[in-house]
Amino acid sequence: MLPFSRVTIIGLGLIGSSLARAIREYMPTVRVTGHDADPNVRQIARAIDLCDDVTDTAGASVTDADLVVLCVPVRAMGAAAAEIADDLPAEAIVSDVGSCKADVLAQLTAALPGRAIIPAHPVAGTENSGPEAGFASLFQGRWCIVTPPADADPAAVARVSELWHRVGADVEIMDPQHHDLVLAVTSHLPHLIAYTIVGTASDLEDVTQSEVIKYSAGGFRDFTRIAASDPTMWRDVFLANKDAVLEMLQRFSEDLSALQRAIRWNDGDALFNLFTRTRAIRRSIIEQGQDDPKPDFGRSH
Ligand code: NAP
Repeated sequence: MLPFSRVTIIGLGLIGSSLARAIREYMPTVRVTGHDADPNVRQIARAIDLCDDVTDTAGASVTDADLVVLCVPVRAMGAAAAEIADDLPAEAIVSDVGSCKADVLAQLTAALPGRAIIPAHPVAGTENSGPEAGFASLFQGRWCIVTPPADADPAAVARVSELWHRVGADVEIMDPQHHDLVLAVTSHLPHLIAYTIVGTASDLEDVTQSEVIKYSAGGFRDFTRIAASDPTMWRDVFLANKDAVLEMLQRFSEDLSALQRAIRWNDGDALFNLFTRTRAIRRSIIEQGQDDPKPDFGRSH
């Protein structure tokens, strides 16, 4: 049996539009209603027939929903939830796709007291944003981490998990604080490093920007993909997951200093041992189907 029959998606960008497409492809009898704060996005969503219905107000989008999924930047979650509070059916479950969970759970609980709130985070994405960037297979073979509050109804958790199963994701249940720590190191810190490296390269005086771009295949270009990610989304992630990111950044700075020292003192063994361990991590990611085994990320040359 399908876990929901009327799903509302608020925020029709990369993730919201991918979820709309995936639900329509893998659960075609589910009615999908969409809303976005941006009139231009609503117009595009209608033009590309993204949902069964796109409403002009958030309230109108939820009146008969049995699931509402908020797909807006993490610091806009509370405002988006407040907008639907008066029109939300009593039995509806509210979920979200935000990249950090403790802060979002606090925002949703404050805006929708007493409601069934089951947050989730599909660990899938690209560097593109907007309704035309989405695609139905985005969640296939990726993890979706469901982070229910301690007192959540297990049946509601099971229904949200089943939705993500149906669109192709593997589901794991996790405590919100632990999620934030794990994602700080696997996602947030790598983005911060990429933003830094690309920023540093563009500020150099002795190496020109055209040289940086010309010789980017040496490694730099792989950071630029991550550093091209949506500025609003990532500003919000760093501010909403401040404690975990600062903790991981501290650890990273210490490890970077150790590497700096190894280079200064010609400690080749330290460098070799680290690089051997990191190579093994790459192999594990490929073995677990989380990336393409082809060399150079499968680029055609
Ligand atoms: P996106 O492509 O920028 O889409 C977000 C959309 O939400 C925009 O159209 C935005 O309109 C709209 N919006 C903002 N505030 C709103 C509000 N109060 N009510 C209704 N609509 C509102 O972003 P995205 O990449 O899909 O990210 C959405 C969420 O998914 C974020 O919480 C992010 O952390 C999470 N996530 C992203 C990824 C990823 O790789 N991109 C992966 C997993 C999870 P405006 O542009 O006019 O503000």
